[in-house]
Amino acid sequence: MTRSPVWHPFTQHALEPPAIEVTRTEGAWLETRDGRRLFDGIASWWVITHGHRQPHIMAAIRTATENLDQVIFAGFTHAPAEQLAHALVRLAPAGLEHVFYSDSGSTAVEVALKMALGTARARGERRDRIVVMEHSYHGDTIGAMSVGARGVFNAPYEPLLFAVDTIPFPVAGQEQATLDAFEQVARAGRAAALIVEPLVLGAGGMLMYPPAILAELRRIAAATGILFIADEVMTGWGRTGTLFACDQAGIAPDILCTSKGLTGGAIPLAATLASAAVFDAHYSEDRARTFYHSSSYTANPIACAAALANVEVWQAEPVAERVATLARRQRQQVEALAGRVPLANVRTCGTIAAADVPGAAQSYLAAVGPRIRQHCLQAGVFVRPMGNVVYLMPPYCTTEAELDLVYGVLEEALRAVAA
Ligand SMILES: *Cc1c(COP(=O)(O)O)cnc(C)c1O
Repeated sequence: MTRSPVWHPFTQHALEPPAIEVTRTEGAWLETRDGRRLFDGIASWWVITHGHRQPHIMAAIRTATENLDQVIFAGFTHAPAEQLAHALVRLAPAGLEHVFYSDSGSTAVEVALKMALGTARARGERRDRIVVMEHSYHGDTIGAMSVGARGVFNAPYEPLLFAVDTIPFPVAGQEQATLDAFEQVARAGRAAALIVEPLVLGAGGMLMYPPAILAELRRIAAATGILFIADEVMTGWGRTGTLFACDQAGIAPDILCTSKGLTGGAIPLAATLASAAVFDAHYSEDRARTFYHSSSYTANPIACAAALANVEVWQAEPVAERVATLARRQRQQVEALAGRVPLANVRTCGTIAAADVPGAAQSYLAAVGPRIRQHCLQAGVFVRPMGNVVYLMPPYCTTEAELDLVYGVLEEALRAVAA
């Protein structure tokens, strides 16, 4: 075969085997050109919630194409976007009353940052700094990288990344240091917003912290006039056990970013939800206060129809129960696994289970990750450890028998790399 012109994401082409061609997806499974079935252990990079090709969502996409394709969204609107916005406002934490559409998690974050800075400016406040949490990840565009952890991922672009104020990750037992650091930054009076991944820092290594700390951060932000941005791009749509992770802390952010599971993972779409106060700061007869942002594919009708169908699935099917069942099984399975092979920092949050491989280098570049991946692939399970962090984030349709199989394969892989 001739060499493929495709340049794959997060892929070192000099080291990795050729990409596996997927010809069909179903439920929790990927079917490949060479006739294999692979269990999708990370929900195709955290986007698939219910399962691949959820029938109601696929049907909604087909139906939407009968009437609409992309239409300009400045000065125009359409039913899928209107209905979805109403649904999002109803489902999201209280007080988020406006919905701005874009097309990926990164753009949802860029929109959130621009809303926060625009709000500060409109209020005549000299607040131009963003506060971020250590180890966080908010996407790969320049602004989103700026508010994420610096490292091997973004070293070449470092000169272009803007400066931020970083508070420590709330390590268990040392949470007060995080809150104190935030109080200190807040007192300086220059911070426009705090952006956080609620409860789970995904790409930072599935690091988890309790709802009470999230609630404290929210309280400090409110008390000090800092906008609170919840990046729920990964945590939303049931991943952490509740529809949004903020729900577990009983908090409502000023701005919320959602993408990945918004369409059940079927098609790209993102939304940035904003409070009335943030919207009102831009609402003016002064055109200079307009929120000057758009993506070409803003509010794509087909994607909005898919997201609306996702909401309907949440209402019509026992998704919350499915999530609770998967969460319980994940906890049981990973704890049992830790009894059979050496694992450190075993942790779960909702449907996510993670652990560190002890003894391995603790960097993202740790060689143990690709070895575990290859070993599992041979046995029909796709996982993608981040350095020495192994984790499973399967679709919600995953059965007990499938999970037994997956953990069995993972156990063999961990034994093999330890040997
Ligand atoms: C994946 C992710 C993003 C970026 O989303 P893309 O759709 O890949 O641009 C942003 N924030 C968080 C928390 C994510 O997990």
